[in-house]
Amino acid sequence: MSNPSVVKASHGRAFALKAGDHVRITTPAGTQVSDTWAFAADDLQEHLSMDHTRSVNSNIFVDRGTRLVSNHRRLMMTVVEDTTPGRHDTLLCPCNSAIYRELGAPEDHRSCTGNLHDALEEAGLKVPFTPASLNLFMNVPVAPDGSVDRLPPRSAAGDHVVLRAEMDLTLVISACPQDITPINGDARTPTDLHVDIWSGDAP
Ligand SMILES: [Zn+2]
Repeated sequence: MSNPSVVKASHGRAFALKAGDHVRITTPAGTQVSDTWAFAADDLQEHLSMDHTRSVNSNIFVDRGTRLVSNHRRLMMTVVEDTTPGRHDTLLCPCNSAIYRELGAPEDHRSCTGNLHDALEEAGLKVPFTPASLNLFMNVPVAPDGSVDRLPPRSAAGDHVVLRAEMDLTLVISACPQDITPINGDARTPTDLHVDIWSGDAP
């Protein structure tokens, strides 16, 4: 396989996948959250849906075997490999400029929402909305009373997730720019993500 594509720290990138393709998303540092979206190649109004994914799997976390479905409840991707301790987040929103304003960050602070729309634009695509993101490597434990925490990732250096595309789609990955809370590790320093794509079963 060729060298992985790099999604630079705090930036986003779009990738075209065909049905049957596999994509491996790696956090080389072990501490980088990947906000992740998918859009059907033939209809941008159909996108990966966190609420329907929770409903179909009867679970709020994503792990090996999870079926990732669209807002039309069609299967878009399947999680086929996961070297992390699991429990990728489906609950929290992608960061946006309003969140960084609340946190007192400079007005030009990058965000996953901005990265999504920038990456789509670079691919010649545009959507007037921001779907909920699948937050790979993001550690958001949920207590029995429903409260959630935002903790550093539990993954280790080189941990990765492999997804199989079940339809032709556009995948967007954002290496989350959050550097104020420890969601990208105690060092509060966003790092690169690596993306490998191959067709068929063998990597
Ligand atoms: Zn983010």
